[in-house]
Amino acid sequence: MSQIRNVAVLGSTGSIGRAALDVLQKLGNSHRVAAISCHSQFQLLEDQIASAAPRYAIVTEGSSGALGWQSLVNGRSPETKRLLGTDAINRIAASPEIDTVVGAIVGVAGLESSLEAARAGKRLALANKESLVVAGAILIEAARQSGAELLPVDSEHSAIFQCLQSHSERGDLKRIVLTASGGPLRDWPIERLSQATVADALAHPTWNMGRKITVDSATMMNKALEVIEAKWLFGLEPEQIHVVVHSQSIIHSMVEYCDASVIAQMSPPDMRLPIQYALTYPQRAQASSTPIDWTQSMQLDWKPVDPERYPCLQLGFEVAKKGGSCGAVLNAANEASVELFLQGKIRLTDIATICRTVLDQHHYSPSPSLAELLQLDRWARSEVLRWINHS
Ligand code: MG
Repeated sequence: MSQIRNVAVLGSTGSIGRAALDVLQKLGNSHRVAAISCHSQFQLLEDQIASAAPRYAIVTEGSSGALGWQSLVNGRSPETKRLLGTDAINRIAASPEIDTVVGAIVGVAGLESSLEAARAGKRLALANKESLVVAGAILIEAARQSGAELLPVDSEHSAIFQCLQSHSERGDLKRIVLTASGGPLRDWPIERLSQATVADALAHPTWNMGRKITVDSATMMNKALEVIEAKWLFGLEPEQIHVVVHSQSIIHSMVEYCDASVIAQMSPPDMRLPIQYALTYPQRAQASSTPIDWTQSMQLDWKPVDPERYPCLQLGFEVAKKGGSCGAVLNAANEASVELFLQGKIRLTDIATICRTVLDQHHYSPSPSLAELLQLDRWARSEVLRWINHS
C-alpha cells in the first residue's frame, strides 16, 4: 500500500476493538491508529493511548470519572487529544484526518458513527452489525451516494465477500450459506435450556467474543441479525440466505452458484483475520494467527438448524422479509433482553418470547426515518421492561 491509512477504531476496548489494535500494530507502516474510543473503560483506553499513541482518544460515558480522565495530564502521551461524548465520535468518524473507520461499538450505540463514516465516504470496516439491522436502507444509501466502501468484519460476511471475489456475474448466484457454531448450549437437551445460567451461556466452544454477542450466539439471535445484515450488504432476497450449524467454525460461510458449485472460505476461528482483510483489501497481509495444520486429520461437518432449539432464527428471517421498522424493534428488544438475562432477571429462553411479543406489538412502518427508528428503539426497550414487570 503506497499511502499510510489513518484508522479510527471506535469501540477500541471491546473484543473486536482490541483485536483491531493488535492487527494494526502488526500491519506496521501501512496503517496508523489515528483515533480510539471507549464508553467507560478509561483504564484500558489509557493503556491503548500509551502503546498506540493516537491523535485522538474519546470517552462517551458522561460521568465525573470521564471528566477526570479528560483532565489527566499524561506526560507519556501529550500528542493525544482527549475528547468526551458521542458527538466527538461522530465528528471523528467523518473527519478528513481519518481514512478508515473500524466500527466496533456494540449495539445500536454504534449506528450514528457508522452513518457519519458512510456519509463522509470513508472505508467503513463494519463489525457493528446492528447498524445494518436497524438502519440498513439508510446506511447502504448513504454509502452509495458518497462512494464509501463498506467492508464486513463479521466473519461470515467477510467469508461471503471473499467468496464473491471468485465470480463477478451476480445473476449466477443462487444462495449464500451462513454457518453458525450453534453456541455453547448446542448439545443441551432442549428442555434444559430454560435453566441455563449466565456462565453456561458465556462458555462459547470455538469463538472468544464479548458477552452480548456470546449470549446472542447461544440463542442464535446472532445468526438472525446476520441474516438481516447479509440481506443489506449483498443485496439478497431472504429466500437466498440459508443457515447451517457447523460446529468447528472453520468454514465461515459459502456461496452457491446456479451450476451447483459452492465456494467456501475457511480459516482458523480468529477475528483478527476478517478485521485484517477489511483493512488491507484488496491486498492480503501476513496473518499472525496459526494457520490450519494440513498434516493433521480434521473433520468438518454441518447439519440443519433445529427451529425448536433456536426460535430466534425465524425472527431474523421474518424481519429480513418485512424490513422497514422491524429490524430496529427486534434489535432493541434483543439488546434489552440480553441485558436483563446477564443481570439474572430473566431466563435465556425468555429472550425469544420477549422479542416475538415486542415485534408483534409494534406499529410497522415500511420506510422509517432515522429519527423514527431511534424512537422505536427506545419504545421497544421500554416494552421489554414492561414485559418483565407484568410477567
Ligand atoms: Mg458473525
